[in-house]
Amino acid sequence: MLGLDAAGKTTILYKLKLSQVVTTIPTVGFNVETVEYRNINFTVWDIGGQDKIRKLWRYYLQGTDGLIFVVDSSDRDRINDAQEELQSILAQPEMEKTVLLVLANKQDLPNAMSTSEVTQALELQKLRHKWFIQATSAPTGDGLYEGLDWLSSTLCSK
Ligand code: GDP
Ligand code: MG
Repeated sequence: MLGLDAAGKTTILYKLKLSQVVTTIPTVGFNVETVEYRNINFTVWDIGGQDKIRKLWRYYLQGTDGLIFVVDSSDRDRINDAQEELQSILAQPEMEKTVLLVLANKQDLPNAMSTSEVTQALELQKLRHKWFIQATSAPTGDGLYEGLDWLSSTLCSK
C-alpha cells in the first residue's frame, strides 16, 4: 500500500483492525509499516520527494501481487505528484504483472475530487495493468471492504 504522506494509509490499516501494525525504519528516514492479515502481507510506506530511497523500493516490491495506491482526493495541489509517483512505481520491472486498486480517500471532505476526476488525473485509462478505483473514507471505513473485495477476487482469479 503506497501513497503520498497524509493520504490516509495508516488510518486504513487501523480501520481494518490490523492491530499488529509494526513500524520499522530500515534506513534513515524510510518508515515502513508491515502487517499480516489472514494470508495477506501488507507493506506500507509513504512515497514522494525521496529520490535517495527510490532504489530501496525494489526490495519491498519483489513478489507484489497487488498494489493499493491511496490518494487524498481533497488534495488537488498534489494530485499530479501522486500521478508521477504512481507511474514511476508501476514502471518498475517487479510491478509488471501487479493489479492496482486505487483508493480515492477522504471522500467525506467537501472539496474532494470524484472517482472520475481522480481517474483522469492519475491517467488510469492509459495503464496496461488491471485496475479499479474505489471511493473511500478511512475514518468511517466507507468503501474499504468494497475495494479489498475487488482486489482479493481479482488476485484469486489470476
Ligand atoms: P498516511 O501518511 O498516508 O499514513 O496518512 P494518515 O493515515 O496518517 O492520515 C493523515 C491524516 O488524514 C490524519 O489526520 C487522518 O485522520 C486524516 N484522514 C485519513 N483518512 C481520512 C478520510 O478519509 N477523511 C478525512 N476527513 N480525514 C482522513
Ligand atoms: Mg502513515
